[in-house]
Amino acid sequence: MRAVESYVTAVETLRVSPGSDPAILRRSLEELDFDHPTDPEDALELILGMFEEHQTHTASPRYFGLFDPATATMGVVAETLVAAFNPQLAVWRQSPAAVEIEQFMMGVFAGKFGFDAARAAGSFTSGGSEANHTAVLAALAHAFPEWPAHGLRALSSQPVLYISAEGHHSIMKAARACGLGLTAVREIAVDPHFRLDIDALSEQLARDKAEGLLPFMIVGTAGTTNAGMIDPLAQLADIAARERMWLHVDAAWGGAIALVPEMRHLIAGIERADSITFDPHKWLSVPRGAGLFLTRHRDILARTFQVSATYVPDNNVASSEVLDLFSHSMQWSRRFTGLKTFMTLAVAGWDGYAAVIRRNTVLSRYLRDRLEGDGWSVVNDGDLAVLCFIDTVNECGASAEFLRSVRESVVSSGAAWISYTCLAGRVPALRACVVNFRTAEKDVDALIEALHHAREGANPRGR
Ligand SMILES: *Cc1c(COP(=O)(O)O)cnc(C)c1O
Repeated sequence: MRAVESYVTAVETLRVSPGSDPAILRRSLEELDFDHPTDPEDALELILGMFEEHQTHTASPRYFGLFDPATATMGVVAETLVAAFNPQLAVWRQSPAAVEIEQFMMGVFAGKFGFDAARAAGSFTSGGSEANHTAVLAALAHAFPEWPAHGLRALSSQPVLYISAEGHHSIMKAARACGLGLTAVREIAVDPHFRLDIDALSEQLARDKAEGLLPFMIVGTAGTTNAGMIDPLAQLADIAARERMWLHVDAAWGGAIALVPEMRHLIAGIERADSITFDPHKWLSVPRGAGLFLTRHRDILARTFQVSATYVPDNNVASSEVLDLFSHSMQWSRRFTGLKTFMTLAVAGWDGYAAVIRRNTVLSRYLRDRLEGDGWSVVNDGDLAVLCFIDTVNECGASAEFLRSVRESVVSSGAAWISYTCLAGRVPALRACVVNFRTAEKDVDALIEALHHAREGANPRGR
């Protein structure tokens, strides 16, 4: 715990990311041999040294990267407690407190997204990818009642699902893993704001139906990974209702704005989704991995995952009253993933979270002003705290080569961390995201300075 405290105190002064050499790292590990036990203090020191020097410090206030904020203290405490008490969540009777806490949290978050908490269900997952995978499986089980028993080959034709080209690629993995295959995923073009284009979706749907395919699912994104854009959720809900398709909303990071009353309208329509992905381990500062799959179809998880096994301990209460979580997800032995979200929320309260998200949003506007004041141009116009930008000072300031070299220079300076991306596969941009509760104006200023410096050093002709 002393080590954790000194890390948290020192992280502000550390280089944000290392220039690690794999050979050096491997050599320091080779010094260890497990023939002779190492003193615990020495083992701890070795690891602390490696972490400090050879890790990108996402906890740093100058980490403007993906959604890896600093972790809240109660989350760290919860992880330690879970490791020590090690509750097994597969079966209710083994860990009644833990299972009930998770079920309670599920209802609480379902309510925040506008589901009827009493009728909603869900499961804590390792993260957004597992939650999205769960969504594809649930949608299949819902659309094709014969699928859980007989598989895809029992269907009369090929099922297809729809997601914008800016949607998260975990859906691709899910499609592959459940046997649908990548070509079953229809990547729909985005509009000029990088949101799913409704006309393009309607056209693709019509073509697929004419070909006799089986459209069964639409995935809307509430906060794209690249640019924080929010798909037109209400329109997607209309289409899904009309076509009798499952609507899943991937709100892995953007869903956090459901906790801020004056931002909630930005994701209006999400309450009409059949299921939602939300990651507490992103904007809610909960240690990885903590994802959440929520659905308003109370029985769908059991229909998707229920199996029976003789070695499962019996419950001592009516099975209708309690839930064995192994029947609600791919996982069997299950870690108590929900505790870190529960404890962090209990101590911060909804208002605590709303305050952080508001502050990040204000800082992101400040960053936008500072960027535009220094000759950068922001190319996304979303409401979430992520900015994608290009240079307008150099002639080649919008080129991938130039932007990559600026990015490389900022990151290798150790002063700040940003990423490079390419929106909709055609707009190269630098990307800075403000989701860390420690980030302040001075950190934004440091980023502006690092960018300014990097631009001057970058080869103006590109490479
Ligand atoms: C991060 C992210 C995911 C993947 O979640 P993991 O927790 O990293 O597995 C899915 N969708 C969106 C929109 C994301 O931002």
